[in-house]
Amino acid sequence: MNEYNREIAGHELAPESLMMGYGYRPEWSEGSLKSPIFQTSTFTFASAEEGKRFFSIAYGLSEPESGERPGLIYSRINNPDLEILEQRLTLWDGAEAGLVFASGMAAITTTVLTFVTPGTVLVHSVPLYGGSDHFLHHIVNRFGIDTVAWEPASDIDDLNEVIGDRQVSMILMETPANPTNDLFSIRQARRFADAHSTDDHHVTVAVDNTFLGPIWQHPLAHGADIVLYSATKYIGGHSDLIAGAALGSREIMARIGEFRTILGTMATPHTGWLMMRSLETLSLRMRRQEENAQIVARFLDDHPKVERVGYLGLLQPSDDAYEIYNDQCEGPGAMISLWVHGGEEEAFRFLDSLQLVQLAVSLGSTESLAQHPASMTHAGVDPQDKERYGVSESLVRLSVGVEHPQDIIADLANALDKI
Ligand code: PLP
Repeated sequence: MNEYNREIAGHELAPESLMMGYGYRPEWSEGSLKSPIFQTSTFTFASAEEGKRFFSIAYGLSEPESGERPGLIYSRINNPDLEILEQRLTLWDGAEAGLVFASGMAAITTTVLTFVTPGTVLVHSVPLYGGSDHFLHHIVNRFGIDTVAWEPASDIDDLNEVIGDRQVSMILMETPANPTNDLFSIRQARRFADAHSTDDHHVTVAVDNTFLGPIWQHPLAHGADIVLYSATKYIGGHSDLIAGAALGSREIMARIGEFRTILGTMATPHTGWLMMRSLETLSLRMRRQEENAQIVARFLDDHPKVERVGYLGLLQPSDDAYEIYNDQCEGPGAMISLWVHGGEEEAFRFLDSLQLVQLAVSLGSTESLAQHPASMTHAGVDPQDKERYGVSESLVRLSVGVEHPQDIIADLANALDKI
C-alpha cells in the first residue's frame, strides 16, 4: 500500500484502520514498521539549487509542480513526524490539510493572530477555556481588536447591534464550552459569518473542538473553516504530552502555517511521534470513555448531593441545546459538569475525598480527572463573567477515563458522602 492509499479494491478504509501506517512508507527508514523519531533540527540539501527550490516553495514564492512534495528544510518549518501526523489527523475531520502545534494554546493563538487585524471585531462564544479567555481579553485587545461575546442560548444575530458597521475578522467558538458543556450552533455561526463577508473579506469561523473531537463532532462538515484542538487531551490521551492542532483547507492552513513558521509554535518531533502512537488507540479509548461517562452521568444525575449535571447525553427535547446537539454532535463524549449542593467548601471536600479519580486539570485521558474550574482552569476569568456563565463555586468538572465504570462510581459515591 502506498503512503496515501485509502482504499482496497474500491472499499474505503476508515480512519481507525489508517492510523497505523497512513502517510508513511517503511522503505523511507530502513524498513522500520513504525516511523522513527526524526530528532533533527535541520535537513541536508542534495544541492544548493535544491535548497533554493525548497525555500521558494516553503515561502510561497513559487507553486509546487504536480506531484512535487515540499522538501524538508528545518524542523521549525517541517519535519517528517509532524507531516505524517498531520496527514493522519486530517482523516478524522475530513480536512484537506493540518498543522500540529506545541500546545492547544499555540494552535489557538497562532490561528487568531493569522486572521485578526486592528480595528476589527472578533466574535467568541462564552464561556471559553481560561487560557483562550485570557488571550482574547488581556493580549489580543492590546492590538486594537475588540471582542464581542456570544452567550449560550442566544441568537448570534442579536450581536449585530453592538457590532454596528465594524468589520468582523473571525468567530472563535468553543462548543461544547469548557467547563459548562454549553452548545453553540456552527451553522448559525457560518450564516452570521457569511452575512458579514464581502467579495474581498471572508469571515473565518474557527471551532475549538477539544471537548468532542475528533470522534463525536466534525465542525468542517457544518460550515466551520478551521477545527482547533488541544491535542493534549483526547488526541494525546495519556496525560504525557502537550500539543495542539489546526485543520482545514490547504489555503487556510498555508496562511496559518506561515505564522507557525515565524512564531515558532510548532510541536517537537518527539511529541509528533508520541501522538502518532496515541492515534492508534484513539477510537478505542474515546468510545470506552463515552460508555463510562454515560453510566457515571446517570449515577450523578440521581444523587441527592448533586444539584445539576451538565452532560450532553442527558439533554432533553425541552433543553435549548437539544436541537444543536442532534444537528451537529455524533455522541455525548466523556466530559461531565456537576454542580454540587453548596459552594466551594462542599466542592473542595468532594474533590479532596476522591481516590481513584485524580484531582488534576486537563481532560480526555485514560485516567479520570476532576477539578474546580472557578478556582483552577478559569481562575483568571472576570468574576462577573464566571457568575453569569455558570462557572460557579459549586461546579466540578469531571473527565471520565477508561477505568471500570463501577470503580469510578464507587469513588464518586464515597466522595459525595463526605460532603
Ligand atoms: N481549548 C480547550 C477547550 C481546553 O480545554 C484547553 C486546555 O485545557 C486548551 C484549549 C488549551 O490547550 P493546551 O493546554 O494544550 O495549551
